[in-house]
Amino acid sequence: MAEPRVPGSEGADIELPCGETVAVHDLDMGLREYDCTCGDVHAVVMDVHPLGRFVPEFLVEVLTDTIETADEFPEFTTAHVMASVMEEFPQEVVVEDVSDDGQAGYSMVWLTDFDARRLHEVVVELVVELMDHAVSHADDEEATAQFEQWLHEFDVAAFVDQYREEREFETEHDSAV
Ligand SMILES: [Zn+2]
Repeated sequence: MAEPRVPGSEGADIELPCGETVAVHDLDMGLREYDCTCGDVHAVVMDVHPLGRFVPEFLVEVLTDTIETADEFPEFTTAHVMASVMEEFPQEVVVEDVSDDGQAGYSMVWLTDFDARRLHEVVVELVVELMDHAVSHADDEEATAQFEQWLHEFDVAAFVDQYREEREFETEHDSAV
C-alpha cells in the first residue's frame, strides 16, 4: 500500500552522472546500490550510514579521534568521507541535500557513477591516505614506521573483499528468524 503523501512533498529528482534521474523517495535508508535504467548499478550512500559500512570499528575510532574536521561537525563522519570522494571524482559523484524532506529519514544522499564495491575501495584508499597523513604529523617515529610497514602489506582489494563478505554474513545472520 502506498503511503499517503502531501502533494508536492515527493522531493526532488536527482540527476545522476550517467544522465538518468532518480526520485528521492525511491531511495530508502537501507539502499546501498541503485539499479539504474542506464544498465549500470550506482552506489548509494546516506549521511545516516555509519563509517562502519566501509571500515571496522577500531579504524572508525582512530579516525574520529585523530582527524580534525574543518566544519561545524565535531567528528569525522561518512559525510566527510563522501566529501573527499567528491573531491577526487567530481564528475562521478552527485549529492543531494534532502534535509527539507521530512519523509526521507536522511539529510544527505550521494550517488556515484560506479558501483558500491568500487566506492568501497575508493573510501578505504582515502581513509588510508588520511591516516597516513595523521600519523606522519603525530611526530612519533615508531608509530610512523609501524604504520608504513602495515601500509606496505595492506591490500585494499583483498580487504574490501573480506570486509564485504563478513558484513554480508552478518546481515544474513541478523535477518535469520
Ligand atoms: Zn545510471
